[in-house]
Amino acid sequence: MVDCFSKKKRSDIMRAVKSRGNRSTEIKLIEFFRKNKITGWRRNQNLYGKPDFVFPKKNLALFADGCFWHGHNCRNLRPRENADYWNEKIERNKKRDKKVKRILQSKGWKVFRVFECKIKTEKLPVKFLEFFSSAAL
Ligand SMILES: [Zn+2]
Repeated sequence: MVDCFSKKKRSDIMRAVKSRGNRSTEIKLIEFFRKNKITGWRRNQNLYGKPDFVFPKKNLALFADGCFWHGHNCRNLRPRENADYWNEKIERNKKRDKKVKRILQSKGWKVFRVFECKIKTEKLPVKFLEFFSSAAL
């Protein structure tokens, strides 16, 4: 495959991808929005907890969570080495997730969190569409 980006550009892209994490999940979600004619989403909104997608008109904040970092029990991803260290980190993330949800809800936002494995296997759609229609104005 021929790389159509210059070296500089390529490294900029790689850096952006790395710092954002969850890239393929987000792209998959955008495809899903298009397919289901879901519009009105915004990215990189300055909102508490930094949701991956925000629907300002519906006051809806969507988080795409990595299974490992957010402690999903779908796969046994936790490393055996330094288990205490990782468990503690993940527990802290989960606590923060709850806090983010509480604070956003107190400001009138509806919060939807979805794990990356659900997005990848497309188990998300029905659930999300239901949520989305219930949030309709
Ligand atoms: Zn998962």
